[in-house]
Amino acid sequence: MLKISGEALMGDQGFGLHPPTVQRIADEVKTVHDMGVEICMVIGGGNIFRGLQGSAQGMERATADYMGMLATVMNALAMQSALEAKGLYVRVISAIRMDEVAEPYIRRRAVRHLEKKRIVIFAAGTGNPYFTTDTAATLRANEMNCQAIFKGTKVDGVYDKDPKKHADAVRYDNVTYDEVLQKHLNVMDASAIALARDNNLPIIVFSLDEPGGFRGILSGTGTYTRVHG
Ligand code: UDP
Repeated sequence: MLKISGEALMGDQGFGLHPPTVQRIADEVKTVHDMGVEICMVIGGGNIFRGLQGSAQGMERATADYMGMLATVMNALAMQSALEAKGLYVRVISAIRMDEVAEPYIRRRAVRHLEKKRIVIFAAGTGNPYFTTDTAATLRANEMNCQAIFKGTKVDGVYDKDPKKHADAVRYDNVTYDEVLQKHLNVMDASAIALARDNNLPIIVFSLDEPGGFRGILSGTGTYTRVHG
């Protein structure tokens, strides 16, 4: 399971989708798929809309969250299109029914897609407000029997403090779920971490900005942080 935030798709423009960036990430996914790895993805929606922002501006929280989930569908379709342009077979599966643009979520069908080496992109989060796409990624990763969640970020792992602000920040090679929760380390939200912990699903945090980074991690090279039990 590859989890990326919506912001990973916006490039330097601060909002929305930046097609060259989408294509670059699609290249990363393709190189890993070419290794024979079964791969599914969850893409966030923060580059378009976040429920919390909407509710802070007076919108009803649940409605704002549904808008956030819809944003993830747009990102998923953009990624599907970029991957298909590279000759891959891709299915977008939405947790909110919209049969004209995406398949509904049927677990066994999603598993079958993976067996057939199709790339599966899970869209619309968990389908429920008050959750995040990190939790959706963890949920689907458990359901698909994924071996790990790969969380692609802008930094090469989990640090004790923000490495962009503090020159003396130290990166963890390994860190436990409980340490992440106790020290409020910036990996995923607490529900996602707890769900990963309860099912012993490792989370690998790595940099997607590094060309070839995703493939490197799967080949046993490169720097990353492993969150485990
Ligand atoms: N969201 C939701 N339920 C889910 C997943 C997502 O309500 O199961 C909404 C929520 O409003 C969130 C938005 O969709 O703010 C976008 O997802 P997220 O913030 O996780 O995106 P990312 O930060 O990864 O880009």
